[in-house]
Amino acid sequence: MKCPTAETSQRTINSTGLSIRTNNLLTPSFLVKSPMGESKTRPTYFCRNCENPLALGEDLISKKFVGASGPAFMFSHAMNVVVGPKIGRKLITGSYVVADVTCSKCGETLGWKYVETFDLKQRYKEGMFVIEKLKLTKNY
Ligand SMILES: [Zn+2]
Repeated sequence: MKCPTAETSQRTINSTGLSIRTNNLLTPSFLVKSPMGESKTRPTYFCRNCENPLALGEDLISKKFVGASGPAFMFSHAMNVVVGPKIGRKLITGSYVVADVTCSKCGETLGWKYVETFDLKQRYKEGMFVIEKLKLTKNY
Protein backbone atom coordinates (compact mmCIF):
# COMPACT_ATOMS: atom_id res chain seq x y z
CA MET A 1 0.00 0.00 0.00
CA LYS A 2 2.87 2.40 0.77
CA CYS A 3 4.66 2.09 -2.57
CA PRO A 4 1.96 3.63 -4.87
CA THR A 5 1.54 6.58 -2.46
CA ALA A 6 5.30 7.27 -2.58
CA GLU A 7 5.26 7.20 -6.38
CA THR A 8 2.41 9.70 -6.56
CA SER A 9 4.14 12.19 -4.26
CA GLN A 10 7.39 11.88 -6.22
CA ARG A 11 5.62 12.77 -9.44
CA THR A 12 4.35 15.95 -7.78
CA ILE A 13 7.90 16.89 -6.73
CA ASN A 14 9.16 16.27 -10.25
CA SER A 15 6.65 18.63 -11.80
CA THR A 16 7.54 21.31 -9.22
CA GLY A 17 11.20 20.83 -10.08
CA LEU A 18 10.44 21.43 -13.73
CA SER A 19 8.76 24.77 -13.04
CA ILE A 20 11.74 25.88 -10.91
CA ARG A 21 14.11 25.03 -13.78
CA THR A 22 12.01 27.16 -16.13
CA ASN A 23 12.24 30.12 -13.73
CA ASN A 24 16.03 29.82 -13.65
CA LEU A 25 16.14 30.24 -17.42
CA LEU A 26 14.33 33.55 -17.05
CA THR A 27 16.83 34.92 -14.49
CA PRO A 28 18.73 37.83 -16.12
CA SER A 29 22.33 36.95 -16.91
CA PHE A 30 23.70 39.85 -14.84
CA LEU A 31 22.36 38.20 -11.66
CA VAL A 32 24.07 34.91 -12.47
CA LYS A 33 27.41 36.49 -13.38
CA SER A 34 27.95 38.84 -10.43
CA PRO A 35 28.88 37.26 -7.08
CA MET A 36 26.32 37.68 -4.29
CA GLY A 37 28.61 39.79 -2.10
CA GLU A 38 29.31 42.35 -4.79
CA SER A 39 25.80 43.77 -4.94
CA LYS A 40 25.99 44.67 -1.23
CA THR A 41 29.09 46.85 -1.51
CA ARG A 42 28.48 48.32 -4.96
CA PRO A 43 25.16 50.01 -5.63
CA THR A 44 23.57 49.29 -8.94
CA TYR A 45 21.44 51.86 -10.67
CA PHE A 46 18.09 50.86 -12.15
CA CYS A 47 15.55 52.53 -14.41
CA ARG A 48 13.04 54.18 -12.07
CA ASN A 49 10.24 53.43 -14.51
CA CYS A 50 10.72 49.66 -15.08
CA GLU A 51 13.63 48.58 -12.78
CA ASN A 52 15.83 47.61 -15.71
CA PRO A 53 19.47 47.54 -14.46
CA LEU A 54 21.35 50.40 -16.14
CA ALA A 55 24.73 50.96 -14.47
CA LEU A 56 27.05 49.75 -11.72
CA GLY A 57 28.25 51.88 -8.84
CA GLU A 58 31.85 51.14 -9.80
CA ASP A 59 31.21 52.75 -13.21
CA LEU A 60 30.02 56.02 -11.65
CA ILE A 61 32.43 58.80 -12.63
CA SER A 62 30.70 61.96 -11.43
CA LYS A 63 27.54 63.10 -9.65
CA LYS A 64 28.03 66.75 -10.59
CA PHE A 65 26.38 66.74 -14.00
CA VAL A 66 23.23 68.63 -14.85
CA GLY A 67 20.70 67.19 -17.25
CA ALA A 68 17.51 68.58 -18.79
CA SER A 69 15.49 67.91 -15.61
CA GLY A 70 18.15 68.50 -12.94
CA PRO A 71 21.11 66.61 -11.44
CA ALA A 72 22.64 63.84 -13.54
CA PHE A 73 25.28 61.16 -13.03
CA MET A 74 28.10 60.30 -15.40
CA PHE A 75 28.97 56.65 -15.94
CA SER A 76 31.87 55.13 -17.86
CA HIS A 77 29.58 52.30 -18.92
CA ALA A 78 25.86 51.67 -19.14
CA MET A 79 23.91 48.48 -19.84
CA ASN A 80 20.47 47.67 -21.25
CA VAL A 81 20.22 51.03 -22.98
CA VAL A 82 19.53 52.00 -26.57
CA VAL A 83 21.87 54.63 -28.01
CA GLY A 84 20.09 56.79 -30.57
CA PRO A 85 21.42 58.57 -33.67
CA LYS A 86 24.33 61.02 -33.32
CA ILE A 87 23.33 64.65 -32.81
CA GLY A 88 25.52 67.77 -32.76
CA ARG A 89 24.79 69.71 -29.57
CA LYS A 90 26.17 72.90 -28.04
CA LEU A 91 26.50 72.64 -24.28
CA ILE A 92 27.89 75.10 -21.71
CA THR A 93 31.32 73.43 -21.88
CA GLY A 94 31.54 73.33 -25.69
CA SER A 95 30.31 71.62 -28.84
CA TYR A 96 29.77 67.88 -28.79
CA VAL A 97 28.42 65.04 -30.82
CA VAL A 98 26.03 63.24 -28.51
CA ALA A 99 23.41 60.51 -28.79
CA ASP A 100 20.23 60.22 -26.77
CA VAL A 101 20.13 57.20 -24.46
CA THR A 102 16.85 55.40 -23.81
CA CYS A 103 15.92 52.42 -21.62
CA SER A 104 15.92 49.21 -23.70
CA LYS A 105 12.92 47.87 -21.76
CA CYS A 106 10.44 50.76 -21.38
CA GLY A 107 11.85 53.28 -23.90
CA GLU A 108 12.11 56.08 -21.33
CA THR A 109 14.66 58.78 -22.26
CA LEU A 110 17.41 58.56 -19.64
CA GLY A 111 20.09 60.99 -20.75
CA TRP A 112 22.78 61.04 -23.40
CA LYS A 113 26.12 59.59 -24.43
CA TYR A 114 29.13 61.69 -25.40
CA VAL A 115 30.20 60.35 -28.77
CA GLU A 116 32.75 62.98 -29.79
CA THR A 117 34.14 66.22 -28.41
CA PHE A 118 35.98 69.04 -30.16
CA ASP A 119 37.81 70.37 -27.11
CA LEU A 120 40.87 68.41 -25.90
CA LYS A 121 39.98 69.21 -22.27
CA GLN A 122 36.61 67.53 -22.70
CA ARG A 123 37.92 64.50 -24.56
CA TYR A 124 37.79 62.29 -21.44
CA LYS A 125 34.00 62.42 -21.76
CA GLU A 126 33.96 60.51 -25.04
CA GLY A 127 32.11 57.24 -24.68
CA MET A 128 30.67 58.26 -21.29
CA PHE A 129 26.99 58.12 -20.39
CA VAL A 130 25.11 60.87 -18.57
CA ILE A 131 21.90 59.68 -16.94
CA GLU A 132 19.52 61.99 -15.13
CA LYS A 133 19.19 61.31 -11.41
CA LEU A 134 15.38 61.56 -11.65
CA LYS A 135 15.34 58.59 -14.01
CA LEU A 136 17.38 56.36 -11.68
CA THR A 137 16.72 54.30 -8.61
CA LYS A 138 19.55 52.89 -6.54
CA ASN A 139 19.86 49.44 -4.98
CA TYR A 140 22.50 48.26 -2.52
ZN1 LIG B 1 13.00 51.41 -18.14
